[in-house]
Amino acid sequence: MKGDNNMSSDIFKQPLFLHSSESSQAAYRAMMSGAADVLVRHYAGLEQPYSGLGPDVLERLIGNIEVCPEEEGMPMPELLELMGSAVLRNSAIVTDPLCIAHLHCPPLMPALAAEALIAASNQSMDSWDQSMAATLLEEKLIRWLNELLGYGQHADGVFTSGGTQSNFMGIMLARDHYALERWGWNVQQQGLPPEAGRLRLLCSEEAHFSVKQAASLLGLGHQAVVPVKTDARRRMCPLRLEETIARLVSEGLYPFAIVATAGTTDYAAVDPLSAIAEIAARHGIWLHVDAAYGGALALSSQYGGLLDGIGGADSITVDFHKLFFQPISCGAFLLRDKRRFRLLRLTADYLNPEDEEGTGPPNLVVKSVQTTRRFDALKLYMSLKHVGRRQFGELVDRTIRTAKAAAELIRRESCFTLMADPVINTVVFAYRPQLAEGRFAGQSASSGTGLTAADQLNLTIRERLLAEGTGVIARTKSDGRVCLKLTILNPLTGPQHITVLLERIRTIGWELETEIPNGKETVAR
Ligand SMILES: *Cc1c(COP(=O)(O)O)cnc(C)c1O
Repeated sequence: MKGDNNMSSDIFKQPLFLHSSESSQAAYRAMMSGAADVLVRHYAGLEQPYSGLGPDVLERLIGNIEVCPEEEGMPMPELLELMGSAVLRNSAIVTDPLCIAHLHCPPLMPALAAEALIAASNQSMDSWDQSMAATLLEEKLIRWLNELLGYGQHADGVFTSGGTQSNFMGIMLARDHYALERWGWNVQQQGLPPEAGRLRLLCSEEAHFSVKQAASLLGLGHQAVVPVKTDARRRMCPLRLEETIARLVSEGLYPFAIVATAGTTDYAAVDPLSAIAEIAARHGIWLHVDAAYGGALALSSQYGGLLDGIGGADSITVDFHKLFFQPISCGAFLLRDKRRFRLLRLTADYLNPEDEEGTGPPNLVVKSVQTTRRFDALKLYMSLKHVGRRQFGELVDRTIRTAKAAAELIRRESCFTLMADPVINTVVFAYRPQLAEGRFAGQSASSGTGLTAADQLNLTIRERLLAEGTGVIARTKSDGRVCLKLTILNPLTGPQHITVLLERIRTIGWELETEIPNGKETVAR
């Protein structure tokens, strides 16, 4: 029925749900266009990656906002304006070319439109009767991803909240598969096997911390994670991997999984996947590839080769809220042999009753560690469909080109040290003090922290950039020393932006070196 029914006009002061009534639809259109307007004015239109407000000032600002009024709610135009001026304006502006700290991407516009559809239709991916077409579209996309990454007919997968969850699933299935194959032990039913304390998983020293986290959540502890030495380019060394497996076996330990990384967080190193897959297969060890970051290289004609061999993995993590330019959160877990999803299957009479298994329509909950789950597949689908594969690959390539150009600019400057040639799109470097060690200001600040004066200088440079709002960049450590890191995930970032940023860093660095301690005065150059 069109037109307002009595219920909505009598009970509610204003339309609150989008439905068949014309007034609700008019209110929805007004809210969405109001939201778009605020977003453009208070976010996308800004010219710096951050407002520069420090935590104290911001805490007061946010602290002054009332949460839930007792009687009169705030009208939407006013509320949107408040969110724009207080929240959006003081957010990290991910679309700014110099918001380049983390694996944190600007989201594609087709995905933003998709988010509106996802939120409003609110499908839940756990059961067919909450997500009919959505279930089928997610499965279709999973098949496409499996093909993209070189998986065959028997593969399957599921969308996840991101790399942490996907890595957890891979390591969990590896553990449970191993216990079943080796000891006939069903972890889902029986809990950890008596030998659990001797289970080990291998990964490179540079693997993401979610691997350790998964080991601890899975009851194996950090002790279960055995780091394998990396080569000069920070990739897991296959020879060392072989040696480590042999050592573990000789010590009576049980190596049940290898986690290779395709794109490490700091240096974007891609482990030699083919060689590792061969070793894993030979030893009958589950190989999980964490391609949270690097998975998107599969779209690139230029860099796709870095993923050669990934199809040999038993399971794969891919994140879409990184180099696939999707709004947070969006990821997937892919499994080469779909039968292994049985290891985590659960049934509930109200959701996916046992008597419907295999006969009725699919209930995706059987493949997930989540129950209620968003239809995030839609935004990836709409992005791929709108952008097209070639252009998508070019977006990826462009970020890599910019990173390589940034590295060149850094290498040319005597006041910077480039830590490594970028593999893909991270650039790690440090400001090198121009005055001799012991000569420049602010050195006392570093005493007792284990930081050198140069370390302290780099930390302060990063803080200053954030406080000015002129650059949002990251810090990390390389061989124990503090470094600056650019993670260039924005196709709109070009060498011209990096040039401006580096100039600013050089200026701040010099000012800090020549600043008189306890004063703001600067000595002449
Ligand atoms: C980002 C990342 C993760 C964690 O993924 P989330 O989506 O943040 O949970 C895991 N591994 C690698 C290599 C990553 O880059």
